[in-house]
Amino acid sequence: MKAIVVREWGPPEVMKLEEVPTPSPGPGQVLVRVTAAGVNPVETYVRAGTYVRKPNLPYTPGSDVAGVVEAVGPNVTRVRRGDRVYTHGTAGTGAYAEATLCEQAQVHALPARVSFQQGAALGVPYSTAWRALFLRGRARPGETVLVHGASGGVGTAAVQLARAHGMRVIGTAGTERGLQLVREQGAHEVLNHRAPDYLSQVPALTGGRGVDLVVEMLANANLDRDLDLLALDGRVIVVGNRGRIEIDPRKIMSKDADVLGMTMFNAEAEEYRVIHAALGAALENGAVTPVVGRELPLAEAPKAHVAVLEPGAYGKIVLIA
Ligand code: NAP
Repeated sequence: MKAIVVREWGPPEVMKLEEVPTPSPGPGQVLVRVTAAGVNPVETYVRAGTYVRKPNLPYTPGSDVAGVVEAVGPNVTRVRRGDRVYTHGTAGTGAYAEATLCEQAQVHALPARVSFQQGAALGVPYSTAWRALFLRGRARPGETVLVHGASGGVGTAAVQLARAHGMRVIGTAGTERGLQLVREQGAHEVLNHRAPDYLSQVPALTGGRGVDLVVEMLANANLDRDLDLLALDGRVIVVGNRGRIEIDPRKIMSKDADVLGMTMFNAEAEEYRVIHAALGAALENGAVTPVVGRELPLAEAPKAHVAVLEPGAYGKIVLIA
């Protein structure tokens, strides 16, 4: 089979399409024939060699695929050969490949209404959005959430999930196309995070109360101003960050506010079980429908790594195997 292989840390071009042996499933493992693989920003940080967690070289990037179960090892009870599935991780074999090996707990049913391309948009983005909103953020129906960076993979997921949960949703994007997308995903209000003073509209949009929750995709740009937007007992959940920022802690103190961090690498097996049970129901009943903005062939993984860091996000970028 073919797979993208990284043999040294560096720019996107270190990702090469190579012929590699097809793995075979051991006990509790599932071999998935990949149709589409999701491209997440973290995979660019890892490839560059700048991320705190690094796999051993050589490796195949990625964790999110959708495809069909090709073979199962002993003791696999959750899926059978021929099932349509999506994954939230692999057993170390990576996602940018024609096939990948997963532990059975990493594999979930993909309903017929969801395409393989959309299935590849689920793993990291929807797990992150669900964990940020509900496990870390304690989001409740009737609350107002600002999804700060709502046009990308995690943001569109957060908007859909929050709207389906009965929340009032304000979403931001940096382009007109992105703003339109965020509105289509269910945001009641949209704001352009490249417009000067865009956050000055938030008090009026919340009747002067402020937002209960901020799901923050670029904390180094926004965290201090997020604190100004919070209602009493408000929470900021830091999902994305690419640098340092100075904040005024008095703003946290004066509102009994919480600033919460989260990274999916810390999620435990039980959290994944809960998250994907909830997502399974939401996929079946149509409450969530992933948005795929761009599809590229597997060989163009380097181009996808450039694109995923460019401004003007529009849902998810996926690689087609
Ligand atoms: P993505 O698809 O590339 O989307 C990036 C989002 O950030 C877009 O909506 C983009 O909007 C927005 N953005 C750009 N400038 C912004 C600003 N000044 N203020 C607010 N938002 C801004 O990436 P993603 O997959 O959604 O991930 C988003 C971030 O979360 C990334 O930094 C990623 O590394 C991180 N992340 C963390 C975890 C975790 O476990 N903590 C998990 C997944 C992702 P425009 O392009 O429209 O300007």
